[in-house]
Amino acid sequence: MPVSDLIIRARRVVLPNEVAPRSIHISDGRIVHVGEYNDVAAEGELVDVGDDSVVMPGLVDTHVHVNSPGRTEWEGFHSATLAAAAGGVTTLVDMPLNSIPATTTLAAFKTKLEQARDDCFIDVGFWGGVVPGNTGELAPMFAAGVVGFKCFLVPSGVDEFAHVTEDNLREALPELSRLGALLIVHAELPGPIKGDGSSSSDYRTFLESRPRAAENEAIELMIRLSREFETRVHIVHLSSAEAIPMLREAQADGVKISAETCPHYLHFAAETIAAGATEFKCCPPIREHENREQLWAGLANGTIDLIVSDHSPCPGEMKLRESGDFMKAWGGIASLQLRLPVIWTEARHRGFSLTDLARWLCTNPARQVSFAPRKGSIATGADADLVIWNPDAQFTVAASSLHHRHKLTPYAGEALNGLVQKTFLRGRKIYDGSHFAEPPLGHMLLREH
Ligand SMILES: [Zn+2]
Repeated sequence: MPVSDLIIRARRVVLPNEVAPRSIHISDGRIVHVGEYNDVAAEGELVDVGDDSVVMPGLVDTHVHVNSPGRTEWEGFHSATLAAAAGGVTTLVDMPLNSIPATTTLAAFKTKLEQARDDCFIDVGFWGGVVPGNTGELAPMFAAGVVGFKCFLVPSGVDEFAHVTEDNLREALPELSRLGALLIVHAELPGPIKGDGSSSSDYRTFLESRPRAAENEAIELMIRLSREFETRVHIVHLSSAEAIPMLREAQADGVKISAETCPHYLHFAAETIAAGATEFKCCPPIREHENREQLWAGLANGTIDLIVSDHSPCPGEMKLRESGDFMKAWGGIASLQLRLPVIWTEARHRGFSLTDLARWLCTNPARQVSFAPRKGSIATGADADLVIWNPDAQFTVAASSLHHRHKLTPYAGEALNGLVQKTFLRGRKIYDGSHFAEPPLGHMLLREH
């Protein structure tokens, strides 16, 4: 048996295909052996996890807006990665926009790496961006380690990150295919979107301004382009469940297209969002109860294969809580710390298992960005990134318990199941339920060639 410096054992360890009693042997930050529960060598510190708790791979969140440099007052690597660690997340991937500069050139990527280095409590990877005219920057950014590229088909909300048209995509896609790079797409088309410049504190008005058609038409376009250019395409934050059948059909047909959805689409429903409650605003919007159930069905049948936070915070005043104007408020929901309990609360009463949960929150996101098998599963050779949590413990979300910079969140006051107790990053305990390990131990994760 390999020498270990730490052994964590539990009656319930979430493995790729089962939950079983196991001992996890860790050396130099890696899992060197996954043995039977009683297979405990003499050497090494032993952590005995109580019977109430489970050990799962550390969460991987591939859709996080850290907004730094340039809009660090919106979030920042320090605060975002503290919140992540407290939520059992051990790897996040930062979005290329809302930072200034946006990550759309090699120089901007280097600036971001400098900003993030030594300030991250968990491991952090990076997306680059596709904007009109930057095709020549894609290969250098990819060689430097971005995991793939994001584009918008509608205005992104910030001037530094322009959206692309089909013509722009026809220029970028051959290059992405040549590189073998994944394109992730904010899939709403401008055509069906209404209400520009208007005001309303009524959620229904906002919802109708961003109809399912905007998503459906965008996804239709991306299926067509992915098929034509053989580019790997991933639809971010899918909200319109109407698009699931065409995604399913395209996947069955061999089109390399995948999709994610987010906790807010799986937990909330439009019918219960109060007038003026702009903390619920995001784009595409949270839709009706019936749509939510269809998204769960899409997860069940595998058309949607991962769930990410789309943590997109801003200073509280940008949410315009005083006027409650849904049309003008910043769109984005802060939930980096809460993805595990939100999804578990919803998943358990629909009959899903802990292995389903780990697949959606850990394994598939790690695969999406080529960090698997090093990240996202408990297996020999993987990084010892682990979360110990109690799936039965219930708690009420208090804004004061959130570690991200701005505490306004639609989850405040929600009763959730699943309490994160300890988080380990490469075998080091970085969170123990109240304290964080200092100094930050997170690495910059560059795509491996
Ligand atoms: Zn986003």
